[in-house]
Amino acid sequence: MHFTDQAPSVPISSYKRTKIVATIGPATDSYGKIRAIIAAGVNVVRLNFSHGTNEDRDRQIPWVRQASAELNKPVAIVQDLQGPKIRLGDFEGEIAVTTGQELSFQYQASPDSGHIPTQFDLSGKVKSGERLYLSDGKVRTKVTGVRDGVVYATADNDGVLLKRKGINIPDTDFGGDVLTEKDMNDLRYGAGQDIDYVATSFVQTAQDIENLRRILTELKHPGNRIIAKVETNAAVENIDAIVQASDAVMVARGDLAVETLAESVPVVQRQIIGLGQKYAKPTIVATQMLLSMMEKPEPTRAEVSDVATAVFIGADAVMLSDETAMGNYPVEAVEIMKRVIRYAEQHNPLKTVFHLEREPGVSSAIAGSIISLATDIKAKAIVAETKTGATALQISSRRQDTAIIAVTDSPRTAQQLALVYGVKSYVRPAEEQAAQKLTDWLRDKQVLEAGDVVVTVSGRYPGVVGTTDTIKVRVLE
Ligand code: PGA
Ligand code: MN
Repeated sequence: MHFTDQAPSVPISSYKRTKIVATIGPATDSYGKIRAIIAAGVNVVRLNFSHGTNEDRDRQIPWVRQASAELNKPVAIVQDLQGPKIRLGDFEGEIAVTTGQELSFQYQASPDSGHIPTQFDLSGKVKSGERLYLSDGKVRTKVTGVRDGVVYATADNDGVLLKRKGINIPDTDFGGDVLTEKDMNDLRYGAGQDIDYVATSFVQTAQDIENLRRILTELKHPGNRIIAKVETNAAVENIDAIVQASDAVMVARGDLAVETLAESVPVVQRQIIGLGQKYAKPTIVATQMLLSMMEKPEPTRAEVSDVATAVFIGADAVMLSDETAMGNYPVEAVEIMKRVIRYAEQHNPLKTVFHLEREPGVSSAIAGSIISLATDIKAKAIVAETKTGATALQISSRRQDTAIIAVTDSPRTAQQLALVYGVKSYVRPAEEQAAQKLTDWLRDKQVLEAGDVVVTVSGRYPGVVGTTDTIKVRVLE
């Protein structure tokens, strides 16, 4: 393990706090491009299992690890499962739809069947009266019946259908079955890879998260942290339980805007970020943050504002999808995102304050004391020893102004903390005074200087989970 043996070149006070997630794709499918986006500010790499092949991933994962090592920067890798993302199948040309027209859909329908082909068998899921949206919500229909594996629906508006476009069924209860056969195969593949998080799509209940957790344990999957992608009506209804059951939450605004009302998305975004802070679970704001940068080297005013808003209301991370996966300006998109984050963090002292009632508990109380102490004495940094990252997460979730440095003996923990607001991690052996030793090293490297006040947080049993019990104040000499 050698990625944290060099000191960063930036002073501690100007670290970017809000993290950047970037999706890899054809536009970033080379070692040089992956290294460039990580150097430009990416903390988390998302492998989107809706696209690409495992051969692609076999190249990309080692590239990320190599770039991360070269740049002395822990990076998290997310395996993002497709879930029951339903698409139309292949057909020639386009199908014009008029209001009131009856349509019929069949799994892998042949061209002469008269039915529109789908890539997923909807017939066992949807029921009469439920909504069925086509082409990302542009054509809205209502299911009128299901017979012999064929789904019948009536169009509510005029529109055009193109092959392979997305289908959304916002009213349909998946009954705890949100992992498809493909997802299971992808999880088996992921179990043999160096992955830190698994993101699960279209979850509806906290039980969906528990099911995945059981599967990850059975598979001994290394990505033992779960990101719940909130993009269904049911997930919004069950949001409190889902945030509690997951390890991180993504506001998946693309599908969320289709399945719920577009105008509800900003409200849900705020709600999720508040719950993330309450339960110390990192939150990611995703989709179309800098979409116009697919084609242009500059973002729109509205996009800049969207990124800044996510920073003001305290998201842990903002995400790039098509911008870095298939856009013409992947590196520029990351650079712009980082500039917007830095400016928003440095020039806006006002943050949205959520009125949170945190669960009382020892770790929460310790985190509260650390922060009030660090704030009162104007500490330069909080240096916390952490085994699983829980201590760093608890401190970070309070969105205090003091820099947080995590010391861990686990590279996996350092990588997983790459998603977390304001946390910079160093991998060091588990030993007595690891935090103090790292502090000395940071002073030697001139990251900290004589006269700086630092709060160190440690436990009686280095490397043992849940033993944080010692808070010390040090003035560096
Ligand atoms: P996706 O998820 O890109 O995998 O669809 C994000 C979203 O729906 O916004
Ligand atoms: Mn989605």
